[in-house]
Amino acid sequence: NQMPLAGRVAVVTGASSGLGEAAAELLAERGAKVAVTARRADRLAALVERIEQRGGTALALPVDVTDADAVTAAAARVEAELGTADLLFNNAGVMLPAKIEDVRADLWRRQVDLNIGGFLNAVAAFVPQLRKAAAERGVADLVNTSSIGAQNLFPTFEVYCGTKAFVTHYSRNLRIELGAQGVRVAVIEPGIVRTELADHVTEPDASAWITEARATMDVLEPADVAEAVAYLAALPARVNFERLTIMPTAQP
Ligand code: NDP
Repeated sequence: NQMPLAGRVAVVTGASSGLGEAAAELLAERGAKVAVTARRADRLAALVERIEQRGGTALALPVDVTDADAVTAAAARVEAELGTADLLFNNAGVMLPAKIEDVRADLWRRQVDLNIGGFLNAVAAFVPQLRKAAAERGVADLVNTSSIGAQNLFPTFEVYCGTKAFVTHYSRNLRIELGAQGVRVAVIEPGIVRTELADHVTEPDASAWITEARATMDVLEPADVAEAVAYLAALPARVNFERLTIMPTAQP
């Protein structure tokens, strides 16, 4: 079956680059209608155009996911224009390491506001549709992007790792509630992926570590993680991978 996701309505946050962009393209290729969100409207418009050129259906919804009202409004547009969402790839995030002696409370706050606050805004806005879709169509997926940082230790990345530990533990707890209602909850924990995530890093040692890793290792590509998202969504409704760790083969 080339179109295992035909009839599905997917929403992807953080879709203007990296994992979200790759996932949106692959979900559309596998037959899902896809709503794509992020702040950069130009990147979303280009993504929608690419998907449509390949015969897919996509809707660009430029929003700052830390703005709860804007996310709620976007959810209403998805339901009205594409149908009830049955897949949320809750993926927008930022990684801003800093040495503790620098006391970068501004960077701590940005990570907490997006990786936890924005993440929860998307849950709040779309879970009602996921529950409705599960009741009506028998399947719905919430796939959350965490990180290997939720498990392993990365000094100077404490706050980032803390937000991702939140995402993992929150997802595993929520799975119990939503699973009983037919909604699968999965959390993906990738190792290093070649995306724009590292472009926002200002801490020199952290930046050097990432550059070194990328130069010496065959790190993951966004499409590798997108495959996992599409795979999870196409499984029989009874099958729920709870937590999926995806590492570059050479990353310890
Ligand atoms: P990118 O920086 O390429 O993508 C991040 C996405 O989030 C962009 O689309 C960005 O779009 C969006 N975003 C950022 N801020 C906001 C905001 N306030 N409102 C809405 N959207 C926002 O990085 P990745 O693709 O790597 O990151 C995706 C997820 O994967 C993140 O949660 C990250 O923590 C996680 N991850 C990444 C790993 C890696 O090695 N790359 C490893 C493990 C996890 P815009 O700027 O247009 O708003």
